[in-house]
Amino acid sequence: MKKRIIFIVTLLFGLSLTTSAQFKIGGKKIDVKKAVAAGTDAAKAITLSDADIARMSAEYMKWMDEHNPLTAADTEYGKRLTKLTGNIKEVDGMKLNFGVYEVIDVNAFACGDGSVRICAGLMDVMTDDEVMAVIGHEIGHVVHTDVKDAMKNAYLRSALKNAAGAASDKVAKLTDSELGALAEALAGAQFSQKQETQADNYAFDFCIKNNIDPYAMSNALQKLVDMYEAGGDKASKIQQMFSTHPDSAKRAARMKEKADEYSKK
Ligand SMILES: [Zn+2]
Repeated sequence: MKKRIIFIVTLLFGLSLTTSAQFKIGGKKIDVKKAVAAGTDAAKAITLSDADIARMSAEYMKWMDEHNPLTAADTEYGKRLTKLTGNIKEVDGMKLNFGVYEVIDVNAFACGDGSVRICAGLMDVMTDDEVMAVIGHEIGHVVHTDVKDAMKNAYLRSALKNAAGAASDKVAKLTDSELGALAEALAGAQFSQKQETQADNYAFDFCIKNNIDPYAMSNALQKLVDMYEAGGDKASKIQQMFSTHPDSAKRAARMKEKADEYSKK
């Protein structure tokens, strides 16, 4: 039986945070006490360069791929994925790579390094066009730098939470625990309504460009709403996606209007 996606590792930090503990992020030492006091303003106190975030994204994806069952190309999921995405090599100059996690979650995500991962649970319940619309939506978050911003915030949150662990000298590479904490923080990241609207619009254009049903995004969202409302086991599989993607019913309706308009042309 398939498992749930792993975003979270068990963190074993027995050390207490002392006032002299310091983070080092991207080679910079950060005063923990100051950073904690700054609370949500901590982001302003730390400058993460694009290169820092790009490196972090690559490490994060490596961690995710190691901790989740990535499908082989010759499986049913692998073949379907190749059929769907085989012709899509890049968007806006960003090289893409696709993969399926054989987990039951109805979810998908894209990372700043151009990695797109789709959970098997989502492929099970959605049509080809709907899967592609969701992929377009996730790519939209990357293109609009939502993912980069979320990655930065997640790192700050996870770093603050695990300050003792982050105080090691070696920060060129994140430790397994740090990456786990980052993954956990990222999983809980919520995009704003505006970011969702823009990602939906991106998905719509992505569908048109790739000869996909203009109603695919609307249908995918409506399917999630229906599953959620059905409750029980189905609802639990999409809880993660729902907590990070609110207002799905409204969004489904808006995307339907957009498709109606397009179809009239
Ligand atoms: Zn989204």
